[in-house]
Amino acid sequence: MTTPFTPGIQAGRLDAATLAARFSDHTPPLDRHEAFVAADRCYFCHDAPCITACPTAIDIPLFIRQIATGTPDAAARTIWDQNILGGMCARVCPTETLCEQACVRELAEGKPVEIGLLQRFATDGAMARPHPYARAAATGKRIAVVGAGPAGLACAHRLAMHGHEVTVFDARPKPGGLNEYGIATYKTTDDFAQAEVDWLLAIGGITIHTGIVLGRDVTLAALQAEHDAVFLGMGLAGVNALRAPGEDTAMAAVDFIAHLRQADDKGAVPVGRDVVVIGGGMTAVDAAVQARLLGAQNVTIVYRRGQDRMSASGYEQEHATSAGVRIVTHAAPVAVGADAVTFEYMTEGANGLAGTGERFEVKADQVFKAIGQTLTGVPQGLTLEGGKIVVDGAGRTSVVGIWAGGDCAAGGEDLTVTAVAQGRDAAEDMHRAITGR
Ligand SMILES: Cc1cc2nc3c(=O)[nH]c(=O)nc-3n(C[C@H](O)[C@H](O)[C@H](O)COP(=O)(O)OP(=O)(O)OC[C@H]3O[C@@H](n4cnc5c(N)ncnc54)[C@H](O)[C@@H]3O)c2cc1C
Ligand code: SF4
Repeated sequence: MTTPFTPGIQAGRLDAATLAARFSDHTPPLDRHEAFVAADRCYFCHDAPCITACPTAIDIPLFIRQIATGTPDAAARTIWDQNILGGMCARVCPTETLCEQACVRELAEGKPVEIGLLQRFATDGAMARPHPYARAAATGKRIAVVGAGPAGLACAHRLAMHGHEVTVFDARPKPGGLNEYGIATYKTTDDFAQAEVDWLLAIGGITIHTGIVLGRDVTLAALQAEHDAVFLGMGLAGVNALRAPGEDTAMAAVDFIAHLRQADDKGAVPVGRDVVVIGGGMTAVDAAVQARLLGAQNVTIVYRRGQDRMSASGYEQEHATSAGVRIVTHAAPVAVGADAVTFEYMTEGANGLAGTGERFEVKADQVFKAIGQTLTGVPQGLTLEGGKIVVDGAGRTSVVGIWAGGDCAAGGEDLTVTAVAQGRDAAEDMHRAITGR
């Protein structure tokens, strides 16, 4: 048995009971009474700002009223009509920067209506009942979806609702995309990602082939030839390089997180005693917090700009610091060594970031890079901008017959809810395009 003080990258720093408690549901669900009390705080605003702030435009006051009037299954239907992955979004949406930030109760009292928790209350209950959507009569149209992440799944479900036959191809062994391989373990417990995929597929008309890589096992030209339309929801499978000597010893934070998500025994996942995470987004925070939960003694996030420029929200930063993670800002890596990372302090001026020449070291037996993901394996012929696929408002790419959405598409924040909205909207446009309606 190792302990948090054992040097090096080690498994088994904490006992099973401690790990189970640490990786349990971060935000436990509301019970019926708590849901009524929470729903009672809603003013059911006219022109509700929370709806505008939701990328999927869920009619939030309506679903909260449905909970308040004792019809939570109707509330779930209101949510799913706009966002078929409403259960996952209730767990992972940064509501503090979306609907709950816009809530008038937040403005007036600094305490918003608990929209995320109410959404979870409604969807969790209704998911235990039969799938509420039926397919329209079969159209005979066939559509290929690449990527079984939130964008691809939302697209596939909406197309199936319209009666089309959808085939989804995904490179990984399991569907779900980052819902299965990326989201922090404590945000989605009890294998919820797979349960939600199974529930979504119950509509019928969707076939998923896993272990199939576009560009390796199948070409875009072949998909186009065999289908009436193609949707690309392939996310961002690559990771940005640090461009610092020694970086080959650093691990991609997304790989660590995926490994942890797939591990039946969290204690078997090795973690350093002194962990350094380089980056400033959600991935950096999730890797750092989970390294601490696994028993790492010292975890430091180092970000090259100021804390206000970190893409992790203030809430997430606080979550990290309250888990014991130290955040160091205005420092960029110079070299990754065997037991320390050398950083240089940075200043930010009119001409961007510049090194000050002052250096310092942070002790590290494990280093994670979390400075962003990149699009890889994109088929030739599609117009790219900023490394992502260019799409119009309806998700159409530069190639007729091919749509794209989610993280791989340019525009919009890289969030689960945004991917769902883009997949859904592309499906509606594909439906119109292939049926002429
Ligand atoms: C560590 C981490 C934590 C996050 N936490 C949150 C959070 O708490 N809340 C939130 O809102 N967002 C979070 N996000 C962002 C969110 O997960 C993404 O925005 C969202 O998953 C994007 O969905 P997508 O369908 O576009 O892509 P993905 O979820 O990445 O799915 C893409 C799918 O395409 C497949 N694929 C890729 N290339 C190919 C290919 N060539 N052939 C076939 N299949 C392929 C992949 O295997 C994958 O299954 C997080 C992201 C990361 C990395
Ligand atoms: S803004 Fe807040 S109070 Fe108003 S409808 Fe939305 S959740 Fe209810």
